[in-house]
Amino acid sequence: MHILLAEDDAILADALSAHLRNAGYLVEHAPNGPVAEFLLQRHSFDLAILDLGLPMMDGLDVLRNMRASQQQMPVIILTARDSLDSRVAGLDAGADDYLTKPFDFPELDARVRALLRRASAGAASTELGLGKLAFEPRTRRASIAGEAIDLSPREWTLLELLLLNRDNVVTKEQIVQTWTGDGGSTGAGNPIEVYIHRLRRRLEGAGVDIRTVRGLGYLLEAEGKTPARAG
Ligand code: CA
Repeated sequence: MHILLAEDDAILADALSAHLRNAGYLVEHAPNGPVAEFLLQRHSFDLAILDLGLPMMDGLDVLRNMRASQQQMPVIILTARDSLDSRVAGLDAGADDYLTKPFDFPELDARVRALLRRASAGAASTELGLGKLAFEPRTRRASIAGEAIDLSPREWTLLELLLLNRDNVVTKEQIVQTWTGDGGSTGAGNPIEVYIHRLRRRLEGAGVDIRTVRGLGYLLEAEGKTPARAG
């Protein structure tokens, strides 16, 4: 678990980093707002702990920019600003929790654990959607813009594999393996191309493309991500 700690108080930051590392987390420390933004662009974090009073750029602005750029990891605000207005502003900017200084480490630990737990439960249960396509593995439901689509078991497995590997090439071998893992033989009369073709038709209007990567396999991505080539 990778945590960003944005805190300009060096003594507190050192103590907190050591404490979190001791608890088994990987910690990156940012002593000011711009460094926090830099690290957020470079790494993917599971959680961020943000001080509000940061040099050069307020923590609230860091948070707003995170949310504006679709970074959805849980955020705990850690601050000396304990007014109701500050709390409301923090939560409105997209914070998940708010802890005022001084605070006890065990309380922060508990909140970090709770948020990470909630985030992983959310990730496991949310759909693997893309574009207008919603895909819910637990209930085996797929829909485009709210309109349910019917998929055969093999189409379902194929789409799931493509979604799990979105933006990456899925090879024909992987597809065959997934299918045979489902207990069926691939069947000589039903080449993968046929299923890809059917799936493309079922996904019309979903805002996703299944690209053929010649000699390698297939790749699912949001529509328009790769500019169409002339000819
Ligand atoms: Ca501060």
